[in-house]
Amino acid sequence: MTNVCVFCGASPGNRPELVEAAGHLGEAIGRAGLGLVYGAGGVGMMGALSDGVLRAGGHVTGVIPSALMEREFGRTDIPDLRVVADMHERKSLMYELSAAFVTLPGGLGTLEEFFETVTWSQLGFHTKPSLVLNVASYYSPLRELLDHALTTGFITPMARDLVSVYDDTDELVAELVGLTAVRAGADAI
Ligand code: AMP
Repeated sequence: MTNVCVFCGASPGNRPELVEAAGHLGEAIGRAGLGLVYGAGGVGMMGALSDGVLRAGGHVTGVIPSALMEREFGRTDIPDLRVVADMHERKSLMYELSAAFVTLPGGLGTLEEFFETVTWSQLGFHTKPSLVLNVASYYSPLRELLDHALTTGFITPMARDLVSVYDDTDELVAELVGLTAVRAGADAI
């Protein structure tokens, strides 16, 4: 099964449409036959996302350090829970298991994970695509910042192209399905 890794907030934010969008993305991932890899959280955006995948009959892999099981309400009811030693192991396993990365609204942890995957791609350490879902315009300032960094000469057009921002869930998932199919084809050659 092709997995996609989704980064999102451990908290729900304060706008109901954010959590709703996490659930819808989860359902769309499950319906598309993709597996979810995520941080195993049971509440907030992470809980809603994983609930959505499970509702659609999809497969969920959660990766969490033992020290965060309590704090992030680590889900023991998902098909594949990996309890790891630390954050480094969590991230490297999440990256290894996934063919693409998606970022939903979240806080500092989400932003850190997003930027790390993109900067590693910029350095050529992997070629996995990174897609951002711009729920309720949450990431419009990020898009503006990246465009600003481009016009100011701090990032190249090629680096700017590493981040695709989508306003629509179905469009993002259709792109994911296409991208991961191309990757699977290339890996098979
Ligand atoms: P947040 O967006 O801050 O709510 O965090 C979302 C998820 O990212 C949570 O599961 C955090 O444990 C995780 N996280 C926080 N900091 C980091 C980090 N430095 N690297 C990777 N994940 C992190």
